[in-house]
Amino acid sequence: MPFVNGEQLERLCAKFPTPFHLYDARGITENARRVNAAFAWNRGYREYFAVKATPTPAIMELLRSEGCGMDCSSLTELMLCEKLGIRGEEIMFSSNDTPAEEFRLAAKLGAIINFDDISHIPFYMEHVGPVPETVCCRYNPGGKFSIANRIMDNPGEAKYGMTHEQIIEAYRMLLAGGARRFGIHAFLASNTTSEAYYPELAAQLFELAVELNRLTGAHIDFINLSGGVGIPYRPGECAPDIAVIGEGVRRRFEDILVPAGMGDVKIYTEMGRFMLAPYGCLVTKVLHLKHIYKDYVGVDASACDLMRPAMYGAYHHITVAGRENAECSHLYDVTGSLCENNDKFATDRMLPEIKIGDTLVIHDTGAHGRAMGYNYNGRLRSAEVLLMPDGSGRLIRRAETPEDYFATLDF
Ligand SMILES: *Cc1c(COP(=O)(O)O)cnc(C)c1O
Repeated sequence: MPFVNGEQLERLCAKFPTPFHLYDARGITENARRVNAAFAWNRGYREYFAVKATPTPAIMELLRSEGCGMDCSSLTELMLCEKLGIRGEEIMFSSNDTPAEEFRLAAKLGAIINFDDISHIPFYMEHVGPVPETVCCRYNPGGKFSIANRIMDNPGEAKYGMTHEQIIEAYRMLLAGGARRFGIHAFLASNTTSEAYYPELAAQLFELAVELNRLTGAHIDFINLSGGVGIPYRPGECAPDIAVIGEGVRRRFEDILVPAGMGDVKIYTEMGRFMLAPYGCLVTKVLHLKHIYKDYVGVDASACDLMRPAMYGAYHHITVAGRENAECSHLYDVTGSLCENNDKFATDRMLPEIKIGDTLVIHDTGAHGRAMGYNYNGRLRSAEVLLMPDGSGRLIRRAETPEDYFATLDF
């Protein structure tokens, strides 16, 4: 079982109706401290938590108290920060295909704006005003991004960022517009557990930083390695060691930036999954057992609470509460109630024998879990509960009600 013991789980289920997402306050805090320690060699290092992964105020506050900033990509994510009193360079605004009103709110809050495209610079000047003094551009090197001949991703097919030529031109435009401090951002692999990813990405961006500085005279203030650091969703997979990753980035920094006289560059990260995924789980109860051509376990959660398996065929480990050590002797599909046959948390999964009323814990749902929820079939999204270090549970988001569902309708 992840982070919660049987007795705590029973108490939580007596208090909060299932399904609910449960988060581990202690785990989140300790992990954030490991991340900060891994990059403590860099003066000015900051993790900007990718709010989209878990846009819940109590979680954002927990990370903020460990020194994290917030990475936003939409109007409502910016509004969440505004409500929490988060402002200025505590916010990174890394959006794409951005509406003018979102740039306006980001500017009003004093967020660091990360331009996804060169055309957004004149768009910003027309709709918002002069470019900010501190500004970032998102880079897309094109082609394929590989580490030791292993292809990690295909930036040439990705909609994000500027080409090499464009980013040089963008810097010149921004300098002419009055920008003084510059950042470079790139996101070239998703959910990778490779400890070589950040160091390889950093090396590319450090070299680009030196080039941009030489060509344009721009002062490079920070390099934003964005997100993408993965977690082991399957048992037996290895978690990346953030200390090893931080050390790998430090070596590239010493090799490339320090000799260029750029040892004052700050490193930023924008992780969502690595900060939260292992510290959340979805707690759900078994409503029905169905035996036709296969054996189905029907639970009270659905893809509306956790879309990753339906959307990407993602694996999430499942534990049957109270039967952690029982033999996995039965083959099941674990399903929700949507009228969609992909509404399955697991397909052909060996599990201990399951009975109606059992509690199932679906692991690693802390990031991109509740956040990707939706209302198909009129399903209402689940609550969120924070497991406090003293073992108690705090409701940090109530479940949706039919009134919420009806609130947008006109009769
Ligand atoms: C999604 C996203 C992140 C976070 O990605 P993870 O894989 O969750 O770490 C960071 N930055 C940007 C711009 C993103 O879109």
